[in-house]
Amino acid sequence: MARSATPSRKTSGVPDGTREPAERAPRYVGSKRGKEVAAVALGRRERREGTWASAEWLRGHSGLPSVACCQLTPIAGEAGAVLALGGGQARFQGLKRCSSPWSCPSCATRIGAGRATDLTLALQTWHARGHSVAMATLTMRHARGDDLTDLWDAKAAAWASVRQSSALRRPVAGSDLDVASLAGYVVKTEVTDGDNGWHLHLHVLVFMRCGPAEASVGLDAWCAAARPLWGRTLGRRGYAPGDEHGLRVALIRRGHEAGDVAAYVSKDGAPAEAVAREMALDVGKSARGRHRNQWGLLGGAIAGDGVAAARWAEWESSSKGRRAIVWTKALRRELLTVPDLTDEELAAVDEPAVGLVGLHGESWRVVRRSGGVCRLLDAAEDGYRVERDAGGSHWQALQAAQDDVVGLLCDFGVPEHRFRALRLPVPLDLPAVVGREPFVPTQLALHGGPDSTV
Ligand SMILES: [Zn+2]
Repeated sequence: MARSATPSRKTSGVPDGTREPAERAPRYVGSKRGKEVAAVALGRRERREGTWASAEWLRGHSGLPSVACCQLTPIAGEAGAVLALGGGQARFQGLKRCSSPWSCPSCATRIGAGRATDLTLALQTWHARGHSVAMATLTMRHARGDDLTDLWDAKAAAWASVRQSSALRRPVAGSDLDVASLAGYVVKTEVTDGDNGWHLHLHVLVFMRCGPAEASVGLDAWCAAARPLWGRTLGRRGYAPGDEHGLRVALIRRGHEAGDVAAYVSKDGAPAEAVAREMALDVGKSARGRHRNQWGLLGGAIAGDGVAAARWAEWESSSKGRRAIVWTKALRRELLTVPDLTDEELAAVDEPAVGLVGLHGESWRVVRRSGGVCRLLDAAEDGYRVERDAGGSHWQALQAAQDDVVGLLCDFGVPEHRFRALRLPVPLDLPAVVGREPFVPTQLALHGGPDSTV
């Protein structure tokens, strides 16, 4: 290992202001806090690898052209993908997205994060005003062999009968509650697949303009009116639920007393945020008990499960074009001043980042199809400077300088599709990361030179 310990800035091409590698290298070994940080980092990277692996599978198998082509081609006016770094996280920007909240793990994550932010703010604001929110869960009968589109349409009709009914807006007998107490809903559809076929259910946040004591009375009245409406409409289509299973409701308490919705919320974080994330973000969750949601099916399909692949195909066609989360418009206007962004707008939101290297269209396609995406992202986050070797002349100049060149990240045999990792001279025992193979430039300095000792 013959690398100099002193960087040679004059030939490195590293811009002024670039932090020293020693500061940037993640050295986690031996520190409890470090291991925790590493665990978080590993989780995120593993998720990212899973997301890109899913994208590659969908490119060849999705029945939805927009999903199959998500992040494959540049958006109009852009020459290609841009590897960018911001907030310590690397990403590719400048690419067309499918904006599917149902069938694309990458876009669904972005859309869900945006919806969760809105919902968190709405819940906190509502509680701060002294009002109440309940979460209702509405389910329907289902059996093996049911058609998912039929089930979904029946669910939509049943919810419309509840939402539009004047019976839910009458004064509640024996209380001060009246029509103004029911302020509106936020509705999310969830679907799982299990031994008894597709299982659809609704999570409904019921916003009530009253304190918790009155809300309990109001909820009883709401359930008494909603249950028969829900059941009758479903019954006409053959999906009537049993009375005891069709509708459950629980008040979401303020502060940290979220026990009533413990079945729905995670153990961490404030209740409002946890409820919002439960409502809006389901990427990363794949199953409830013996039921798989769409991400569980996608994972099974990628692993070669033919049944899961067939279910995934049905899922794609049945969910396409449906809205994932629906607000009562007046409620949203009352609670939030931020614009109600579309799925397309949310999927296009990029955190501030600095572009590191551009990949023109063909380079990007080569990198994507060859599985090099995560190597470039990991290297950028680990403190390497990633550059495209356009033509090889600059590469040779760096070679002559005998420093800075750590290795090739991707080499597809064509100079224009070759990406190298550069950094200030560092020991070649690259940063060890607990529980994970360290980044090792496997084709280190293949072009020779006194430092090519690996
Ligand atoms: Zn997408």
